Amino acid sequence: MPDSEIIREIEVFDATPREVSLERRERRFKKLLRHAKANSPFLARLYRDVDPEDFSLSQLPIQERAIMEPHFQEWVTDPAIRMEEAKAFLANPENMANPFLGKYSLLTTSGTSGLPLIMVRDHLHRRVHGALRQKRLLGHIPPELLRPDRNRIAAILLQNSPSANFISFTRLKRLFPENLENILGLSTIEPIPELVRKLNEFQPATLCGYSSLLGVLALEKMHGRLEIAPSLILSTAEQLTKTALSALSKAFSDCTVLNDYCAAEAGEIAMSCRCGKLHVNEDWIILEPVDEEDRPVTSMEISDSVLVSDLSNFVQPVIRYRLDDRIQPMSKPCRCGSKRQLITVHGREADVVIFENILLPSVVFTSLMNELPGVLSYQFAQTRRNRLEFRAVYPDETDRTAFFNALSEKVGQILRGNGCSQVEFIASDTLPKSSSRGGKLKSVISEIWQSFEEEVS
Ligand SMILES: [Zn+2]
Repeated sequence: MPDSEIIREIEVFDATPREVSLERRERRFKKLLRHAKANSPFLARLYRDVDPEDFSLSQLPIQERAIMEPHFQEWVTDPAIRMEEAKAFLANPENMANPFLGKYSLLTTSGTSGLPLIMVRDHLHRRVHGALRQKRLLGHIPPELLRPDRNRIAAILLQNSPSANFISFTRLKRLFPENLENILGLSTIEPIPELVRKLNEFQPATLCGYSSLLGVLALEKMHGRLEIAPSLILSTAEQLTKTALSALSKAFSDCTVLNDYCAAEAGEIAMSCRCGKLHVNEDWIILEPVDEEDRPVTSMEISDSVLVSDLSNFVQPVIRYRLDDRIQPMSKPCRCGSKRQLITVHGREADVVIFENILLPSVVFTSLMNELPGVLSYQFAQTRRNRLEFRAVYPDETDRTAFFNALSEKVGQILRGNGCSQVEFIASDTLPKSSSRGGKLKSVISEIWQSFEEEVS
């Protein structure tokens, strides 16, 4: 499929009759399923009773991360992709943003809901999702806001991790080697006062980052400590919750806030339109918000999780893959005129923990775990006003004491750097606890959770 056709279809989607779009989507889905059955040994087994020419969506088994992850080698459709080689490739920072085996993009999930998972994307995925970004997300903003030869761009990232964001950031720096002084990369684990100081000094026109951190920066701006006036704020990776969005709009006037609801597993799922509402990229993504029993939720109901299918990635087919996001399909049409499904993404149980009246976004802790391999699963839990517990499942080969000491030193730096000097960080014998709702494991929880909403409203 040539690029011009991909772009043209995206441009005319809203003017195309619904039945034509749905038929096109169904053809894409069948093609993906045929390819998956023929080339992925794991999916051939999973779909052995499914006829790719005659099936209904609900008939397809759900891809659960815990099941798919150990079968990476058989999940991918190209036998040239070897798990050990992929891991070695990702471990070398020199390879960041370079093609794997000369043709694939290799990245990992950010680890906000568990340990990083390796994802491979092919050429079609890159072209389709690149076009969705260019046309739908960035199509209505002045292009110079993303050009470091014209404006200053700051991004708060998981530094040196092969996440989609850091790869894009690396590409931007390579594209503009003459303008590196206009590109600032900040780390998610830097203390908030330090981020504020650096941003005040840099004065970005464009600010990109994680939703939970942007929410905290909005509070810093309202309290008068952050003194920047960006024209564009771009939230990616985590979901920008309604609360964080209203805090940003309140704190930064005359600033466009764009929300890109994406996942390493499926790419660009939904994007904000001119009205600031999120529309699903229905031409290439199928999104099924489901309840605890995996039944589709009705309009305006909030889902327990969501199943996503990406019709553009043939090398690691993502079909009815479960993401632990809570989605509300909206029934009202949007003022922008788009017919694509409107959704609201609701926050997870706790996007922040609060110590000594200081908000710390969960990403601050989860990004640490990318730097410190050695646990199978983990959880940071605020169990008292000034106590943070670390719960983990360790493989036999990990020296627990050495691991916790290394972690404790880094957590101590974060807490002190943010002014939370009275917080006690302890290793707990308790295993990570799943939430009572839906039984899912959250990487960061506050068991004495206070509402973030109260502070920003
Ligand atoms: Zn809209």
